[in-house]
Amino acid sequence: VGTRKFVVGGNWKMNGNKKQIGEILDFLKKGPLNKDTEVIVGVPALYLEHVQSNAPEGVMVAAQNCYKAEKGAFTGEISPQMLKDVCVDWVILGHSERRQIFNECDELIADKVAFALENGLKVIACIGETLEEREANKTMEVVNRQTAAIACKVKDWTNVVIAYEPVWAIGTGKTATPAQAQEVHKALREYIAQSISPDVAASIRIQYGGSVTAANCKELGSQPDIDGFLVGGASLKPEFVEIVNARQ
Ligand code: PEP
Repeated sequence: VGTRKFVVGGNWKMNGNKKQIGEILDFLKKGPLNKDTEVIVGVPALYLEHVQSNAPEGVMVAAQNCYKAEKGAFTGEISPQMLKDVCVDWVILGHSERRQIFNECDELIADKVAFALENGLKVIACIGETLEEREANKTMEVVNRQTAAIACKVKDWTNVVIAYEPVWAIGTGKTATPAQAQEVHKALREYIAQSISPDVAASIRIQYGGSVTAANCKELGSQPDIDGFLVGGASLKPEFVEIVNARQ
């Protein structure tokens, strides 16, 4: 808690069209959004510029992915430099859907995180265990391994937010209990303290993600090692405003 600013991301995934995006921007404008919380919306690439130009002041815009090269023969990809060119300052990397559906491995994600940071982006780096891994008591092994892969390539963590998102809680309506989430966040912070540095552990923000709603956000947000949320489904709905304001 202390000096770590609460940060709430909305991951729209592959949702939204101009009409629906207009409605989302309307409820964001209406707010009111707690000024002490950073708000970032993760927008499909095609709509980044539109949202960047129309989002209310204080709402930042993130891409949901980008590649690890500036330009070239990488059909279908976008680069950090392109994002900067259209004034987008954030990117979500390593989301479980990228890992699972698009087979992105720890190493590729680490390369992307490092390249995005080198090119001036801020990164929400996602980690989290599957149900099988949790049931096999491998949660911390997996979460630490995913973090370590990034730590191999990233030295300055100032512009990184970690999103801990248990895969079994994403889009399932099965939220981790506040105690379950806090346990992982605390253990991860301890791991970061010993494997990276106590300073990084104290300052890095760790979001929880996985079926966060207006109904459960306050209790989750009051846990000492939970510094915000990454929100999927509920970020498309007006209740996102309540989630942004969870700490108020
Ligand atoms: C997500 O996509 O990062 C996410 C947490 O989704 P949901 O809130 O819908 O579970």
